[in-house]
Amino acid sequence: MIKYLNIRSKQRNEFIDITAEVEEALGESGIKEGVCYIYVPHTTAGVTINEGADPSVQRDIINSLTRLVPHDLGYFHREGNADAHVKSALAGVSASVPIEAGKLILGTWQSIYFCEFDGPRHRRCVVKFIKG
Ligand code: ZN
Repeated sequence: MIKYLNIRSKQRNEFIDITAEVEEALGESGIKEGVCYIYVPHTTAGVTINEGADPSVQRDIINSLTRLVPHDLGYFHREGNADAHVKSALAGVSASVPIEAGKLILGTWQSIYFCEFDGPRHRRCVVKFIKG
C-alpha cells in the first residue's frame, strides 16, 4: 500500500509536521506490525524526525542549516536554489519508523517533518507501509 500526502509549503524554508497524516494513513492501512517508509520525491526538500514539542528546535535546525549553507555562495547551479539542493542532501529524502501494535514507534518528543527548502510550493510525500 502506498499513500501520497499533499503538502503546501508557505515559506522558503519550513518544517511541516506530517506525523498525524502518517498515523492516519497507517490506521487506514490496517497494518499492525512492520515498517513505515517515508520518501520525499523532490531534490530541494527532505524529511527528518526530530523534536516535536518545542517549535524553537525546528527554527534552530533551519537557522543552523542556513548558516552552514547560505543562499548565495557562488554556486555552479544557476537556478538560484543550489542551497536548497545542498540542504536536501544534508537532511535526506527518506525516513523509516517501526510499527508495533498498529502504532508508529516514535519517541515521546519525536515528530516526522517534511522539510521544505525551496518553497512556497506544492509538494508530495510518499508513505509506504511494509508488513512484517
Ligand atoms: Zn535547482
